[in-house]
Amino acid sequence: MIRPNTPDRVEDGRKTTTFHLRRACNGCGQHLGDVDNRDVDDRGNLTDVRGECDHCRPLVALEAAGCRTWRLTRRNLPEIDDEVDRDGIYAKGYWEYVDGKLRVTGLRIGSGETRIVAYFGDWIIRRPDGCFTVHKAPSPA
Ligand SMILES: [Zn+2]
Repeated sequence: MIRPNTPDRVEDGRKTTTFHLRRACNGCGQHLGDVDNRDVDDRGNLTDVRGECDHCRPLVALEAAGCRTWRLTRRNLPEIDDEVDRDGIYAKGYWEYVDGKLRVTGLRIGSGETRIVAYFGDWIIRRPDGCFTVHKAPSPA
């Protein structure tokens, strides 16, 4: 079902803006369109709408094909690092200079030339064969 995307309406001469609540993708945060009943389940929880998002739809397909996915954040980096280590693959925080200071900007998985780097906001994908890949976060609009 196509999701409507009602534009904001500003009325002349009055300080009134009328807008419709918008749903953001729970995978990447991009706006998808107006909120409606499909956005809440029977218990009142927000539903997974990544399948409506051009950027995140491939992740939904990968999960259906048996892949494990994580969106890398500062908070879940240690958890993902531990899980990758348990698979027997070397992983550690990825450090870079940012504004003159050395900071962790993501997670490095693997070693040598085959290593991959996921930055905060990217999705890490573990395929059923044990290989890891990265689905980049969308570029800021
Ligand atoms: Zn998305």
